[in-house]
Amino acid sequence: MNIILLGPPGAGKGTVSELLVKEYGIPQISTGDILRGAVKQGSEVGKEAEAYMSAGKLVPDKVIMKIMEKRLQDEDCEKGFILDGFPRTIPQAEQLDDLLDRLGLTLDAVVNLEVPEDIIVRRLTSRRTCSNSDCQAIYNMISKPPKKEGVCDKCGSTLIQRDDETEEAINERLRTYHEQTEPLIQFYSSRDCFMSVPSLDAKIVLKEISGRVAE
Ligand code: AMP
Repeated sequence: MNIILLGPPGAGKGTVSELLVKEYGIPQISTGDILRGAVKQGSEVGKEAEAYMSAGKLVPDKVIMKIMEKRLQDEDCEKGFILDGFPRTIPQAEQLDDLLDRLGLTLDAVVNLEVPEDIIVRRLTSRRTCSNSDCQAIYNMISKPPKKEGVCDKCGSTLIQRDDETEEAINERLRTYHEQTEPLIQFYSSRDCFMSVPSLDAKIVLKEISGRVAE
């Protein structure tokens, strides 16, 4: 089962991914998580990506494609994968098509998650992330607060507001989304596997996706 989740930052791709992971037993591949891990480790990729990320801009396609080419061939992807936050530009989508061709794979669902912009801004500014790079659990001060304020339920580490979740960075990320990522809806919309769903409740989104891929 090979699934792409499209949608602006804060559309709920991570939450829907978690449900899909449980449902299908396939990994969630989040380029954002991979890059944050690389920044934390101080690797070459991390050094290259850091400035783009904290400014709310996209990391160059070449860097992303190199990461994804390797990741999609990892053993845990044998039964499929959920792509969360990738592709993010038309060149990435075109190169992903080539890569899937080479690997003999096809897409089962390309899901666009629709959310009104005011809800996105509210969701993102109230988001807190676990500072432990091995955990990275996500909370929301409004809809999913931790049991103890400022502390991760899963590992006990401190919760932080990400650099790219300040209001200024969020506005830049939304601008970047409209310019570079939104055109992907048009790119995929003529394919049979494409679907667009309102993303207010992740469980309903899961139902819609499961219904479609079972057809
Ligand atoms: P995310 O957690 O998916 O919102 O990603 C956080 C940041 O990582 C983005 O604002 C970008 O700077 C970078 N990033 C993540 N995925 C990609 C991608 N596919 N292409 C370019 N930059 C990316």
